[in-house]
Formats: sequence, structure tokens, C-alpha cells
Amino acid sequence: MIKEARNKLNNVFGYEDFRPLQEDVISQVLDKEDALVIMPTGGGKSLCYQIPALIFDGLTIVVSPLISLMKDQVEQLRQYDIPAIYLNSSLSPEEYQHNVNKLKRGEVKMLYLAPETLLMPKTRELLSTQDIDLFTIDEAHCISEWGHDFRPEYRQLTEVRKDFPEATCLALTATATPRVRKDIKKILKLDDSETFLASFDRKNLFLKVADKDDPLEQTLDFLYTRKKQSGIIYCFSRKQVDELYVELKKEGHSVKPYHAGLSKKVRGRNQELFIRDDISIIVATIAFGMGIDKPNVRFVMHYDMPKNIESYYQQIGRAGRDGLRSDCLLLYSRSDKQKIQYFINQKEDKEKEVAEKHLKDLMKFLETDKCRRVPLMKYFGETYPHDDCGMCDNCLSVDAEVEDLTVQSQKFLSCIARTDEKFGAYYIADVLRGSKSKKVLENGHDELSTYDIGNEWSKEQWILLGRMLVRQGYLSREENYGSLELEEQAKAVLNGKENVFGVLDRTDTVIGDEAIE
Ligand code: ADP
Ligand code: ZN
Repeated sequence: MIKEARNKLNNVFGYEDFRPLQEDVISQVLDKEDALVIMPTGGGKSLCYQIPALIFDGLTIVVSPLISLMKDQVEQLRQYDIPAIYLNSSLSPEEYQHNVNKLKRGEVKMLYLAPETLLMPKTRELLSTQDIDLFTIDEAHCISEWGHDFRPEYRQLTEVRKDFPEATCLALTATATPRVRKDIKKILKLDDSETFLASFDRKNLFLKVADKDDPLEQTLDFLYTRKKQSGIIYCFSRKQVDELYVELKKEGHSVKPYHAGLSKKVRGRNQELFIRDDISIIVATIAFGMGIDKPNVRFVMHYDMPKNIESYYQQIGRAGRDGLRSDCLLLYSRSDKQKIQYFINQKEDKEKEVAEKHLKDLMKFLETDKCRRVPLMKYFGETYPHDDCGMCDNCLSVDAEVEDLTVQSQKFLSCIARTDEKFGAYYIADVLRGSKSKKVLENGHDELSTYDIGNEWSKEQWILLGRMLVRQGYLSREENYGSLELEEQAKAVLNGKENVFGVLDRTDTVIGDEAIE
């Protein structure tokens, strides 16, 4: 039978090989054994039931709480000529009836259902006339109060399961905390069944957390070395999305916003533009990303702090699906944490307890000064087998040495003085590197003594130095225009009375000089 599964993989879905665990899960299901599958987002859970569905004679049911995802999957399956339908509250009565009729005529192989639809007596009655081989419960963590998305109606699935004792039960989730896992097994009575647990480590994601001191500037810096790359920037609120979108647009970025306050049409269009690479960046609330399967997302940035590891991991999981290195930057601030705490305080009892635990786990990840993969994997119930992943900010900064940056600082500061403290770091870097840009020439800054004296460094390095000098108090940033102004302390450096020491934040340097004009 597994041969047949491989055949479907190649000929129906067009993939060459199974991903880790897919083959094992599929052969278990084909043997009609129940199973629990835990795989990270993007790991390839869908094929674990789609392939058996094609091989079984009877019907495969997929319970999922995500209506939009259901729709996407069904449309996709139809493109492969797989007869799939869905029943949920989003259908008009006519469409609903149309689908029911198809089912009755035995024209359907896969039926996607929202849990509340499945629980309706008329649905259960309808299904009692069907020959059901596979009963799939997607997003199975919804069954547990300890998950991040508890849905009481999921609890009742145990009851429904008794309606089709012959059907194999396959539960899937991307939430692997040991507690949730235990709950799922207990509630769905999967105690004696096999659990398939894929590793949650996404080796190609570079993880970085930075203190949020000037988020807009930090975002621009981050994007600066990622020209034309595809990426997602997550914000906490719709308002923040709108504001950041305007700022990035103003800076000439190819960007669109996405949040639930936009019309369905606009949202759909912006998403499509992003997927087709017609724009590079999408600035979004967490509403964005469900069911998005774009292989070349090169970065995911969190402009605001996510509310727990679960959502963080799901969101960064949208980066690097092609396996190439991708960068994840999270801007952390205390006030974001307070905001989250505020929302937690509105909750009660168990729900509050769970949310607090989740925040605490997230803080462990944010505040560690060791490899970030250790607390992250621990959250997912795994022991990370190394203490140095080489792919997080903490692992890299271990080697970073404090350098004497006095000479470069003098160049940088004196260039600011000579351009009358009217410009930002990008411009100063241009002058130092002898740029022939229109703006530099029009201002006559190619005549300055500091013009073209900084070619030993890339533009990016100068910008990082600028940020470091702000942090160390030699410079301040003018509020409205972001131009850099000299602080009293800078004089001592310019007079040669004080040396500047520091570390340029090398974890910002990702693709080196070639990406910089
Ligand atoms: P999950 O539900 O676990 O988040 P999906 O089932 O949506 O993940 O799969 C993620 C992506 O990986 C999809 O584009 C899917 O087509 C692709 N994929 C799944 N299995 C394979 C495979 N064996 N080979 C290549 N691509 C695969
Ligand atoms: Zn690390």
C-alpha cells in the first residue's frame, strides 16, 4: 500500500519524496491504526490524510476550525481533481444543499467540516449513511484547555467519534507542549496509539531579539540589507499596521498592509500581490498568514511582541519554507509586555492561568543570554541537543569582541558636524563613502573634507556605527526628521580626548556587501 501512497505523492501531488514522518504516518493510517501527529507548521501535515483519503474506498472526514483554511484546501484539492467539499456556516443554503447532494450521491472522497457543523444532529444523521474510513481531527490542540486556542465544541468530538467505530482516527496539531499532548491523547482516547512527533527545530531560521528602542529606524535598518526580499512584518494593532505601512511606503519600499479592518477585497488583493512577488513586504496583524504557503519568505519581523511562543513560532514558521536561510527579528519592549499582561488580567480562572504560563515561557525565550533554541525547543517538549546553534543572536554574539572604533567614530561625527546636523545615518554614510547620488551632489557635499574618506567600511557598517553612537549617548536623533545631532560628549571624541569602544551589531549583517548599492 505504501507503494501506492508514493505513487500518489509523485503523480497526483507532484512531489518527489516524503517529508520526515509523512511516510510513517501514512502507512500507519493505511493499516487502519489510530495516530496522533505533531508536526510544526509547514511540516506537511495535510498529505498525511490527503494521500490515505485517495487510497481508501470510503470517505475521509477532516474536522477543522479554520474556515478559510478549509476553503483553500478544498480549492487546491479540486485542482488536483480530487473530489473534496466542505460544510460550514460560510456556505449559502443552496451551496450547502448542493454539497450535501454530492455527498449523498457518493461523489465525494474528502469532506471538510467545522466542528459545530459536525455536531449538528442532521449532519450526524447524514454521515450515518456514509462509509467512513478516516476521521481526521486537524488542529487537535483545540481540544485542550492548555492549548492556545481552546474550543469547547472540540470536546464533543469524542462523542461523534463513536458514530463511526470503523473509522481510523488521526489527530494532528502543531502544538507539542507535553501537557497539550497528554490532553489530546486522553480526551480522544489515543493512549494506546502511536504518537508521531516531528522535530520542531527549523534550522534555517536565524533568530534574533532586539530591544525596541527606535522601532521605525530599526525596521528600516533591517530592511536595508534585505532589498527586494520577500518578508512579513507583524504588528500588534491595525492602527500600527497602517502607520508602519505609510512610513515604509514613504521610504520607497514595495509594501502593502493587511488586517481585518480592510475590506475582504483589499485583503485578498494584497495577499495575492505578496504571494506573486509583485510586492516584497506585507505589514500585517496576526490575521495574516493562515494557509499562506509561500516558499521564499526570507524574513519575518515582529515589530511588536507576540503574545506567546505558540503564535511566535507559527508566524516565523512562514519564513524559509524552501529551506534557505531566513531571518526572524523580534523587537522586544517592556511596554509591549505590559500590554499583553493587561489583556491577560481581563481573563479569569483557568484561561488566565494558562495565558500567564504562556507569557512566562515567552519571557524565558526573550530574556535568555544563551542559545535561544534551548528555551524554544524546551517549550515544545524537546531537549535541544547542543548549546550553540550558530543561528541565533546569542550564539553569534559570544564571539563578538569589543573594538576600538575611535577613528571611524571621529569620521562619522565630524561628517555630521560638517553637514550641519541635518541628516540621518544613511546620508552620512553616503557622504563618507563618496556617493555620487543626486542629493549629495546637489548639496555640494562632495566638496567636504569628509567626503569619500570612509571606503574601508560598507554603508551598512556606517549605519550600525551610527546606531551604536546613539545608544552610547554621543548622538541623538531629532524627533521629526530623524537627523542626527551631536551631543556634548561627542566633542571629546572629535578633540581626540576620548576613545570610543563598542561592538557593531554583526547579527544585523546577513547578506554582506553585495546587497548594498
Ligand atoms: P502543515 O499543515 O503541516 O502546516 P502543509 O500540509 O500545509 O503543512 O504543507 C506545507 C507545504 O509543504 C505545502 O506547500 C505542501 O504542499 C508542502 N509539502 C508537503 N509535503 C511535501 C513533500 N513530501 N514534498 C514537497 N512538498 C511538500
Ligand atoms: Zn543559538
